[in-house]
Amino acid sequence: MMKLTSILVSQVSGIGAQKAKDLEAFGILNVLDLVEYFPFRYEDYRLRELADVKDGEKVTVSGKVFSVAVLQRFGGKSRLSCKVMVDSMLVTAVWFNQPFLKDRLIPGTEVTMTGKWDMKRLQVTVSESEFADKRGPAHSGTVQPVYSVGGSITQKWMRKSIAQALKQFGELIEEILPAEIMDKYGFMPRKQAIRAIHTPADVEEGQRARRRIVYEELFLFQLKLQAFRTLNRGRADGLVHGYDNEELRAFIKSLPFELTDSQKQVIAEIIRDLRQPYCMNRLLQGDVGAGKTVVAAVALFAAVKSGYQGALMVPTEILAEQHTRSLQRLFEPFGMQVGILTGSLTEKRRREVLAALQMGLLDIVVGTHALIQEDVFFRQLGLVVTDEQHRFGVNQRSILRRKGMNPDVLTMTATPIPRTLAISAFGDMDVSTLRELPKGRKPIETFWVKHDKLERVLAFIRKEVSQGRQAYVICPLIEESDKLEYQNALDVHAQLQFEFPDLRVGLLHGRMTAGEKDETMNAFSSGETHVLVSTTVIEVGVDVPNATLMVIYDAERFGLSQLHQLRGRVGRGAHQSYCILIADPKSETGKERMKVMTDTNDGFEIARRDLELRGPGDFFGTKQSGLPEFRVADLSTDFEVLEQARDDTAELVAQSDFWTAAKYVSLRHYLQREQIFQGDLLD
Ligand code: ADP
Ligand code: MG
Repeated sequence: MMKLTSILVSQVSGIGAQKAKDLEAFGILNVLDLVEYFPFRYEDYRLRELADVKDGEKVTVSGKVFSVAVLQRFGGKSRLSCKVMVDSMLVTAVWFNQPFLKDRLIPGTEVTMTGKWDMKRLQVTVSESEFADKRGPAHSGTVQPVYSVGGSITQKWMRKSIAQALKQFGELIEEILPAEIMDKYGFMPRKQAIRAIHTPADVEEGQRARRRIVYEELFLFQLKLQAFRTLNRGRADGLVHGYDNEELRAFIKSLPFELTDSQKQVIAEIIRDLRQPYCMNRLLQGDVGAGKTVVAAVALFAAVKSGYQGALMVPTEILAEQHTRSLQRLFEPFGMQVGILTGSLTEKRRREVLAALQMGLLDIVVGTHALIQEDVFFRQLGLVVTDEQHRFGVNQRSILRRKGMNPDVLTMTATPIPRTLAISAFGDMDVSTLRELPKGRKPIETFWVKHDKLERVLAFIRKEVSQGRQAYVICPLIEESDKLEYQNALDVHAQLQFEFPDLRVGLLHGRMTAGEKDETMNAFSSGETHVLVSTTVIEVGVDVPNATLMVIYDAERFGLSQLHQLRGRVGRGAHQSYCILIADPKSETGKERMKVMTDTNDGFEIARRDLELRGPGDFFGTKQSGLPEFRVADLSTDFEVLEQARDDTAELVAQSDFWTAAKYVSLRHYLQREQIFQGDLLD
């Protein structure tokens, strides 16, 4: 049978060479890509009675043209209007910029119009119309898909082309789910589901089609995780880190502070993993300021002392710089080389770092996602640590393994992820938790004030600085905006410089170059600048223990976990620290957020209250949760399906005939394409 992947879109009638090329920008190359280009919502063109429609709603109605149409032109634009009798109501219909419709609006003609209903004026502003002779798009009375389109690809064209592709080639769509799964859930066949997700006969069919497609997506995702796990379970080919215990102890002794019991505990868990011949996949969670970095440092030390290289991956360049500096301080006395790899290195410098990594001249590299690019090779990568939200997916782990390396992986996060969720979303993960903060930390005192108390806030900044401390001032915006009435960093920076002519006030925001950011951060961490005005680029991970005051303008703009992260920039040293939230929240939840912040310093408690305030949907939906994103599935509503898919796939790959039986060959092909294994297991 012909495969849809080998049929080019230009073979669909109506798609010419130019359009075929334009479709490439959407990732659509072959007919399978095209029919799997799913709508993100539907437009409801089913006819309704105007009496049921609320003001401002979009509606499709049908009626008879009642008066001669009037065309007005202004500039290059036009407005066409006429009266239409809909049910027994005389309404005004208005078309903008479609002057050519004038000739068709002959009194007595039947017209179906879709547009916005203005109840007061009894008027429809028509966006799409269709005439009884059916020369327009024949979709009234149906539910139509809405695709993400752009450029030369219009909505109408996309609808037509996908429908045509299904007509010509729809029969060739192959089933991918195993028969036992189809039976278990009573799913409709793939062929039918794909047809129905584009043009559902009714809402119910659309939902059934979506359920099947969502399951399929999560099933394939889980299949990768479970197959990877099964193939590697008991395969004792993970690295054994054979470091010397005495050396490790000497390193821990050299640290500028005594480790907390909690840190000792999680370090023991991690290095036990490192010594075992299995591949580590561990999540380290701990509140902001709990001291995760030093835990990572001990693990990296052990890896390097075992003869391997280590990598630390972080989300921002500021953080990469900071971690590089602190690791250099810790490791250089032991003769270990630490390098940095970010997107802003010069090409020359980048090549030097890559060469040093490949030759093994660097023991540790700290970097942003620049680290996982194709041309980065290690001599002997043994441990990968990812800090704050960046995660290695199962594909990447599998690719690293096939490069002949099988590094242990440690993921660090300040956002607590429920264990079952972590397992479902990332596979078989072990979890370590830092439960206490370093000793001697005084809880940060948090105040919530209204904007009219600014004078007192300024006095407070002055007082802290006069005692030798430093302060952060966070603003939601970089510069003035006509849309939003929030404080911007440029204005606040100018204002503070004016208020404190004798102090040095720094400025940090996302539009500065990496070099400028670096300079600003250095000046602040060395104590040269007293006050740092910043946007949220400062948010994750930055560590300046002498800073004791965090002022946040328009705090209602931020979510709870973001506020907690921001507040976590202070309270990192021995001095009492403060956080001042300047906010006049209008909404109840805004007020509630300020209250939660003044009530507690505990990140786990804040995460819990956050969940309560926003509901789980939002929690899973945000980037902050760090969960993988799917094309159709939405973990806020489809989380249970993910768990189901996990159980189903685990059962499936545990059967020995999964790896041999003919009926599973397409799933094995899928795993091969996803680089979970090479062909040797296939036939
Ligand atoms: P996070 O867990 O938020 O990444 P960091 O690793 O940045 O926290 O640590 C916060 C601060 O606490 C740093 O200044 C670090 O040097 C310090 N610190 C870490 N562990 C200890 C400890 N056991 N005793 C005292 N200070 C510590
Ligand atoms: Mg950190």
